[in-house]
Amino acid sequence: MKCPKCEHEMEVVAFKDVEVDRCTLCKGLWFDSFEADQLKDMKGSEEIDIGDPEVGRVFNRDDRIDCPRCKTGMIRMVDPKQTHIWMESCTVCHGVFFDAGEFRDFKRYTVVDFFRGLRAGERP
Ligand SMILES: [Zn+2]
Ligand SMILES: [Zn+2]
Repeated sequence: MKCPKCEHEMEVVAFKDVEVDRCTLCKGLWFDSFEADQLKDMKGSEEIDIGDPEVGRVFNRDDRIDCPRCKTGMIRMVDPKQTHIWMESCTVCHGVFFDAGEFRDFKRYTVVDFFRGLRAGERP
């Protein structure tokens, strides 16, 4: 499979029994439907996100990408709990792409995010 952002080959990496695809160049991560949520709950799973967040930030600006599985145009999604994280999601096969460093961030749901969420809740 080719990376939807930089078109380099992606390699399969496994964490326990969940397999995801990681780009050999930009280190972006591809999760098939629900894999991201599954992995988020697994201790230590952030170790699959080995990329440089600085590189991820550069690739993050490129949000006009097609799903590497089914070639549908992907839409940008924001994690409702951590609104600074944008990921691209496929509305057809429900795959999700995280730029390098984003999954690590996605997993680290911080106290700051928690309070930010509370405040957002008070004043919508
Ligand atoms: Zn890539
Ligand atoms: Zn798709």
